[in-house]
Amino acid sequence: MITVNQNFYSSNFLDRVSHLRNDMEWLAEQMSDATSRLLPVWQQHNMVISGETVSAATLEVQHCEALCSEDAEPILLGLVDGTAYFTLDVSHIPDPHEHELLGAAGQFEDLRKVGPYVGRDEGSLLAYARGINYWHQRHRFCGVCGAPTRSEAAGHQRRCTNGACNASHFPRTDVACIMLVHDEDRIIMGKAPRFQGRMQSVLAGFLEPGETLEDCVAREVFEEVGVRVTDVKYQHSQPWPFPASLMVGFRARAIDTNITIDEKELLSAEWLSRSDLKAITTDSPVQLPRPDSIARRLIEEWLAED
Ligand SMILES: [Zn+2]
Repeated sequence: MITVNQNFYSSNFLDRVSHLRNDMEWLAEQMSDATSRLLPVWQQHNMVISGETVSAATLEVQHCEALCSEDAEPILLGLVDGTAYFTLDVSHIPDPHEHELLGAAGQFEDLRKVGPYVGRDEGSLLAYARGINYWHQRHRFCGVCGAPTRSEAAGHQRRCTNGACNASHFPRTDVACIMLVHDEDRIIMGKAPRFQGRMQSVLAGFLEPGETLEDCVAREVFEEVGVRVTDVKYQHSQPWPFPASLMVGFRARAIDTNITIDEKELLSAEWLSRSDLKAITTDSPVQLPRPDSIARRLIEEWLAED
């Protein structure tokens, strides 16, 4: 049974008001409303207040003017219970912790590190802010003609400033498949070189042009561990803005079970049973993926079916 819980970093509680993004009068009202909030992002780091837990630090949106640069305009994220949330890239400020306003409001942290300590809704807003600022940073110039682009639609589009070209560019998300490969009472857990410490996880890889998601699952599993799969079934998905992915979660049943790893992709991979996985403690040689990840949820849902 798939639960209806949302994955971490999904912001379905946010009203994205796409019909209002070009309404200049409405936007001006939100920008002058003292209750509207601003989430600054500095070089992919979010402003937070961190202690035992971590919470999002926000500013009144009126501070935008003092913090804007030539390259960064406020981006509307949407409404939460009627309150408008904006984000602004403040990467041009040399050290935000020394900045009079920003330094007093919070610390800039990498959500990739602090994510597991942030509440779900706040984590989602921080993730969204980080992801959309990253896209703007990487699309300052037109991919068609090379001219500068400008932000439009309250930050949800960029347009080429070369009138003869006039190309529109929209925020992009890279699709990655992540799959729990099972064979009766065991699943494949692998260790990629980028994984920290003793962590192991289910397999994953990026979708290529011309592939279906199911094709991608089968190809990635075969490439990484030499195992053929069938019964590829969608489970749920997760925005993963590190830097710009959507993780699409699947289960797949192994047809053959001999593991031959691709040493460029993985350091190791092995079949682990439910009892192996349930016996994991903080001292074990294998650790599960972080609790805010879809990988962890795919594993825990499968374990719960015992
Ligand atoms: Zn252009």
